[in-house]
Amino acid sequence: MHYFSYKGRDFFCEETKVCSIAQKFGTPLYVYSKRTIFRHFHKIKEAFASINPLICYSVKANSNLSILNTLVREGAGLDIVSGGELFRAKKVNCPPQRVVYASVGKTDEEIKDAIKYGILLFNVESLGELAQINKIAGQLSENVDVTLRINPDIEPKTHKYITTGRKETKFGMDINTARKVFLKRGDFRFLKIRGVHIHIGSQITQSSPFIKAIKKVKGLIDDIKKEGINLKYFNIGGGLGIVYDKEKPQTAKVFADRVLPLLKAISLKTILEPGRFIVGNAGILITKVLYVKDTPSKKFIIVDAGMNDLLRPSLYEAYHRIVPLDRKPKTKDRRPKKADVVGPICESGDFLGKGRKLDVEKGDYLAVLGAGAYGFSMSSNYNSRRLTGEVLVDADKVYCIRERQNYSDLISKECIVT
Ligand SMILES: *Cc1c(COP(=O)(O)O)cnc(C)c1O
Repeated sequence: MHYFSYKGRDFFCEETKVCSIAQKFGTPLYVYSKRTIFRHFHKIKEAFASINPLICYSVKANSNLSILNTLVREGAGLDIVSGGELFRAKKVNCPPQRVVYASVGKTDEEIKDAIKYGILLFNVESLGELAQINKIAGQLSENVDVTLRINPDIEPKTHKYITTGRKETKFGMDINTARKVFLKRGDFRFLKIRGVHIHIGSQITQSSPFIKAIKKVKGLIDDIKKEGINLKYFNIGGGLGIVYDKEKPQTAKVFADRVLPLLKAISLKTILEPGRFIVGNAGILITKVLYVKDTPSKKFIIVDAGMNDLLRPSLYEAYHRIVPLDRKPKTKDRRPKKADVVGPICESGDFLGKGRKLDVEKGDYLAVLGAGAYGFSMSSNYNSRRLTGEVLVDADKVYCIRERQNYSDLISKECIVT
């Protein structure tokens, strides 16, 4: 059951005609399906039910408060990567014992705020950070639980910009360094090192890289246990891939069936940090055709959404399906030729899709699919464009969950000096 599909000519999100959303709220606009978010969260939950993991939704994939709130009320925890995301976690009253915090560059202020909130775990990425959290914990007279983020040096077979588990990347510590830290844990008086964390990359469609990484880390966990050190948590991160085009990613069930035997053998409390898997295919970006420009060498469909609204095609050459909200009947005289779907931004890298066959004209609406993860959350004000609005669809109801910015928002923190 897909919550984004055509009924006749019209494209629907759940029981709502998307065209009517476009007319009411304007474009560009992000549209999310609440039922899809639920469904994906529960797919993971059910697949791993036999070990009852803590599922911490990765806030950076889509950090809208309504989405966080929806997931937190459903029992999810949150995986945060900044003080701003901690602020959001507090705003939706996420119980602190369900918050985990990773980032290679946590500032003193961020560390302090997270300790004061009483988060479950810091995922620590370096020796310097370990010392710093220990120092701040001491100043606050608190004992702080941490896990060490391990860089298992695994090739996750995904785009290089979203690879995080290779030794050349800035993330985590190598296994030997981690082992030494465990043996010298007494140096960190205010810290309890409670486990290990890995997050090897994103949009990973096969289970073999996960298996390899988990096996590598299992070696470390076994060694540590032999030293008589008691661990409590094994956080295996996020990274589950989704379908954008013709990928055949593992389902949550297949993934779980492959990793569960390993996790059961390790026998620690498992933490998962899915982001894209939960929200990626729960959101679309809708946009209006401004012009169709046929040049001698190429045809362009110029739309009102650009790389500032959805950066993934420009940044990763990511593929997103693009479909019309009104599917016109096919006739012999209408044979659309291939066109690039581009935005209004002054950059040649500003495109949403290349070489697409779309039968559209000025004023038609398009939906860019699979835009729920790393869509709005990566958007910017480049070209002084206002951040788009976001709406959440629940069956036949549409809720505005973020108003489109107005022009004064663009300059609200600026001042003119003479
Ligand atoms: C980004 C991130 C995730 C989520 O990755 P997805 O590919 O969206 O599942 C999980 N954990 C950490 C530490 C991250 O940085």
